[in-house]
Amino acid sequence: MQLRTYCVETWGCQMNVLDSQRLEGELRTLGLVTAARAEEADVVLLNTCSVRDKAVQKVLTRLGELRRARREAGRPQLTGLCGCVAEQEGARLLASHADLAFVLGPGRIGDLRAAIRAAVSSQQREWTGFAPQQDPDALPIDRTGSHRHFVTAVRGCSQHCTFCVVPYTRGHEQSRPLEAIVREVEHIGTVQPGSEITLLGQTVNAYRCPETGADFADLLEKLAEGSGFWRLQFLTSHPKFFTDKLIRILSRIPRRGRYLHLPLQSGSSAILRRMRRGYTREEYLELVSRIRTALPDVTLSTDIIVGFPGESEADFAETLTAVEAVRFGQLYAFVYSPRPRTPAARYPDRVSRAVASRRIEQLFALQGEIQRQLNRALVGSTVEVLVDGPARRGEGVWQGRGDDNRVVNFAAWPGIQAGSLVPMRITDATAHALLGEPVQQPACAAEALSGT
Ligand code: SF4
Repeated sequence: MQLRTYCVETWGCQMNVLDSQRLEGELRTLGLVTAARAEEADVVLLNTCSVRDKAVQKVLTRLGELRRARREAGRPQLTGLCGCVAEQEGARLLASHADLAFVLGPGRIGDLRAAIRAAVSSQQREWTGFAPQQDPDALPIDRTGSHRHFVTAVRGCSQHCTFCVVPYTRGHEQSRPLEAIVREVEHIGTVQPGSEITLLGQTVNAYRCPETGADFADLLEKLAEGSGFWRLQFLTSHPKFFTDKLIRILSRIPRRGRYLHLPLQSGSSAILRRMRRGYTREEYLELVSRIRTALPDVTLSTDIIVGFPGESEADFAETLTAVEAVRFGQLYAFVYSPRPRTPAARYPDRVSRAVASRRIEQLFALQGEIQRQLNRALVGSTVEVLVDGPARRGEGVWQGRGDDNRVVNFAAWPGIQAGSLVPMRITDATAHALLGEPVQQPACAAEALSGT
């Protein structure tokens, strides 16, 4: 079978987005080019996420669709299962699905070539677990066509929150050497100046350089000395590791993004304890207060799990009051779903689906109103917007994001380009997006850098 084209489908978090870029980098070095659709590709990689339930079901549905398309077209195709579902359920799926060429867990991306070679010679193989000799950050990353770039600072996680699969699918926490991160960011700044850089880690602010012992604040300070990027962001901060030193450094470095994702998970200290999060409601709210005092321009976003085992009406009410108190700019909420191998999956006192659904609706209604008010307050202000491309809805409407991560929609103009950095006046707002118009002649982000 001759392999000429590929398609990588990505589900889940930014880690998966970056892993997909690594997978694509490897496929390109093998001489493959992108296909317009997965159905037309010789190699299809499904880079999956298992953080929520129905992950396996989604994979099976997609495999079925690809199988039908192959039959109709009468052509062969190699299908590989990657990501966290591959790590957790790969062996089982490989055994039951003959049309799955291989499974490749997040810790084995460096084995993609070997997996493809084996598949071409009709050997179905499982590549899971962790290969300590492999450095995924040494793999080529296909960063073409993007002006938002992810750079790994910390891989894996060792926190073992009781609901979370990440420590099982991505392994224990490992920080990259500071110099390697600085070199990567400098390289991006050279080849794609004006980009947004987002440092990644499940607990990114737990960063500790394995060579020098430098912490996350030191890393940010060092990176801020560079000038090739537009804004420096990072995901995801753990409240437990948000030190006063980090706040101090953030308050004085240039080109810091104004977006800070700080998962709360629950507003009840009792539930936080059951989640093994390592902070109380009071400590979280006190941290927010310290951050807001030092960084008044920052927009906070958060994650909330609704219906965690044992969550009473009183616990949930505490989540609502915490959300009211903080007034997050964005909030991602999910109904709790038990994940394999996690302690919480064995907890008693399950909250019924009906109760959890009612609670999450209540939370979304509250957050929707807060977001509407916060966004409306921005009407008349000017924000710098990094243009992403055409919006999903509306002919001639494009969208981008400000450095606080808010979506801004606007009417396109002749010659508009993704990656442009455009100051926009906000003319209208809903709970989920701002409407803007350029206040001056649009300029390329790279050209505008000198003025930032
Ligand atoms: S900190 Fe907790 S929720 Fe976040 S990745 Fe680690 S175990 Fe999961």
